[in-house]
Amino acid sequence: MNDVFNRVVAAIEAANTKPAQKSGEGVRIQCPAHGGNDRNLYIADGTSRLIMVCYSHQCDPKDILEAVGLSIKDIYYKPLTQQEKTQHKILVNDRQLKSDLEIELLILLQWLSAFYESMFPIDNDADRSRVLLAMKRIQKVTEYYLKRGV
Ligand SMILES: [Zn+2]
Repeated sequence: MNDVFNRVVAAIEAANTKPAQKSGEGVRIQCPAHGGNDRNLYIADGTSRLIMVCYSHQCDPKDILEAVGLSIKDIYYKPLTQQEKTQHKILVNDRQLKSDLEIELLILLQWLSAFYESMFPIDNDADRSRVLLAMKRIQKVTEYYLKRGV
């Protein structure tokens, strides 16, 4: 279920006396256009907009929506705006960076605690290069955040 579905169902539910009931791929709900107590209106996700069918009075989706202060435009899925796309990309990127950073910090902290307990100093090239890589990656993420002003 997407945001459009949730918003429309919530608006219709708010005007009704009974909550929506799950039915197949969608919900059955009281039809606000013709009123009545039965859940005659079926709402489900379609490919580019919501599917709305009033099984008792064949009410027009336009009338159904207008009965709860919405318009026919509200059932169409809108493509994301450029700004929303950019924000989404930043969010996904941040999530990835955060998990990368956690891994690198763990490697570094493990090594540091072992080092201070003198269990093993960096005595081989593999350890040394992994610790250096962790430091470089942490530095890169830090620079990214400083540049973004976070
Ligand atoms: Zn109806």
